[in-house]
Amino acid sequence: MNSKKKEISSKPSLTYLLGRACEDCGEPIADQERKTKRHCSEYVDENGIHHNCRRRKYQKKHQIHEDRLLDWAAVQRQTKTKIEETVATHGEFVNLQILEAYGIALNNYITISHGYQESYLEFLGYNIIINPFKQSIKIQKHDKPRSNVDDRTLS
Ligand SMILES: [Zn+2]
Repeated sequence: MNSKKKEISSKPSLTYLLGRACEDCGEPIADQERKTKRHCSEYVDENGIHHNCRRRKYQKKHQIHEDRLLDWAAVQRQTKTKIEETVATHGEFVNLQILEAYGIALNNYITISHGYQESYLEFLGYNIIINPFKQSIKIQKHDKPRSNVDDRTLS
């Protein structure tokens, strides 16, 4: 007696009506795949190379993030050099024209805080203290980032 065969061969053919695609390589994802699927399934190709679109997408994201951080750190170091040159030439009291001439962009500050009449812009190694009422700008060397400095040292 022959056992009854299960009908597993008649899988429905895949459709792509939803237009889903892998978020990394853009390969279409079949409608029959689970709803949360956003990447190709992991597979090993004929050369033994592991393909994992999901992991690759996150690696790319991470890389972009790191590149931006490196850019930001580079800008901070450049700004520090420019501030040092400014202080060496003009001393600690400067004005906007001088800062502009040295290419110091005030909006590149690391942190900013506002006092009674003054704003403190923290840069690498220096604070730039701006008093808009007196229209004065003072460059103050600091050894530590503001976040570690007691508030009383500012007033
Ligand atoms: Zn893919």
